[in-house]
Amino acid sequence: RITVVGSINMDLVVQCQRIPQAGETILARSASEICGGKGANQAVAAALAGASVSLVGRVGRDAFRDRLLNNLRVQNVDITHVRTDDHVSSGLAVISVEESGQNAITVVPGANGRVTASDVRDAESVIRSSDLLMLQLEIPIDAVMEAIRIARQCGVRVMLDPAPAPNRNSRKSSIADQSSNPEKRTDFWDDDLLTVDFLCPNESEAADLVGHGVDDLVQAEAAARTLHARGAANVAITMGDRGVMVFSEGRATMIPAFQVSAVDTTAAGDAFAGAFAVAWAEAGCQTANIVDAVQFASAAGALAACTHGAQPSMATRDRIEELWRT
Ligand code: ADP
Repeated sequence: RITVVGSINMDLVVQCQRIPQAGETILARSASEICGGKGANQAVAAALAGASVSLVGRVGRDAFRDRLLNNLRVQNVDITHVRTDDHVSSGLAVISVEESGQNAITVVPGANGRVTASDVRDAESVIRSSDLLMLQLEIPIDAVMEAIRIARQCGVRVMLDPAPAPNRNSRKSSIADQSSNPEKRTDFWDDDLLTVDFLCPNESEAADLVGHGVDDLVQAEAAARTLHARGAANVAITMGDRGVMVFSEGRATMIPAFQVSAVDTTAAGDAFAGAFAVAWAEAGCQTANIVDAVQFASAAGALAACTHGAQPSMATRDRIEELWRT
């Protein structure tokens, strides 16, 4: 079993010729509502890759609630520990996509910003009975830290996708903390967050964490070593169509990406994380199996890049295995 503690969003994707400037009104070509949120995306990715998955989080009391929950149910994600918060709306991301592919995203954390350490404690038994706990940073840091603490106490392995990128220099925490709960926000970055079994930032998140660019393989290896030195037992920096820089057991290994014709890389990182979790948990979360699990996960990331949207782009295990074996 895999448990995810994280965000659940409705993505409102607006296709427009160009992104409007302040004060401007434009006509969009179309709009679609697609289930997203990194927590939910990774939970669905892991369920499709073959694991039994529980999600801990919150949705709001609004029209999106039922659709978000139904979607998770249909994808076989256990939602016993998803609470409905009567005081806020569900998490919402308004994503404007230009013809050029450029996008502008506004995130309303809503219920995601109100996930508490106490919600996580209420799900303690499900975390304890998991092989692996998956975390991201779209919910308050307090809740993330509590999940890490519980998992550590009972020897459950933890992986963290440090997204959205925390900015160390401004000592700010996650988006959810900053905007939805200004009085209570935990306004600091805590390096304790790095002391996980597997840390999987993308290039820009890695750059924010280490404070230097991660544009080439030399810099990526340096960043992975730094993140390991700061506490992460194993590190994988995902680099889009260039592949993944893995640092594990004192060795850096570059895993090249599968060659595919990408149309939309949205949620490729989530597909990667979900599939990695499944492959690694099946291998008993042994460090020796990290590179194999990253290869399997890269196939899932590549497949997600071949389809539009977040959750609709997640591949089933059969398709991941087919590409992985090529
Ligand atoms: P994120 O979505 O978090 O920015 P990435 O874009 O780095 O994450 O994607 C995660 C992984 O998915 C990559 O390391 C790679 O293995 C795979 N992937 C992403 N984009 C492509 C692509 N265009 N072609 C092949 N594989 C890709």
